[in-house]
Amino acid sequence: MAHYYVKSEANDRGDHVVHSEECQFLPNEDNRKALGDFAKCETAMDHAKEHFDQVEGCQTCCPDCHSG
Ligand SMILES: [Zn+2]
Repeated sequence: MAHYYVKSEANDRGDHVVHSEECQFLPNEDNRKALGDFAKCETAMDHAKEHFDQVEGCQTCCPDCHSG
């Protein structure tokens, strides 16, 4: 299990990127929303979609959910 976050600020493509807690690219506390503890990034993505229409998995910590 890992704790997942979604970045509040969208990237250049309009995606809100989902990260796990240990990612080196984890956004600062004031620029992220906590999603909860999940076994898989897929579950975190579902929760992120409750906050933002356009979400994307981080290439570094969530490669299984990164669509490229
Ligand atoms: Zn990440």
